[in-house]
Amino acid sequence: MTDKPELMVALLDEYDVRYHNHRSGWQSVRCPNEFGHARGDENPSARLNLTLGLIRCMGCDLNGDAYSVVMVVEGVDFLVAKERLGNPESVREENWII
Ligand SMILES: [Zn+2]
Repeated sequence: MTDKPELMVALLDEYDVRYHNHRSGWQSVRCPNEFGHARGDENPSARLNLTLGLIRCMGCDLNGDAYSVVMVVEGVDFLVAKERLGNPESVREENWII
């Protein structure tokens, strides 16, 4: 089972959000929730804590752990977010069984 900080790092890499990997405490990062910002988050308004695996945006509703980020950014509920983070390959379109 992956712990929360590792989930957050993997998620931010996927969303192409830059962060300082070895910085403790809170750091400013671009908000991954592009729908929460009219012209994208040009001036980083989110605070990231890699030790805790938490992120909080000052400009939109994004606040919490990796599950919360997936729920806000991708508009899914907790169970979908949990499956998504537990098995990222499962929701990729090419793996859909139709
Ligand atoms: Zn935001």
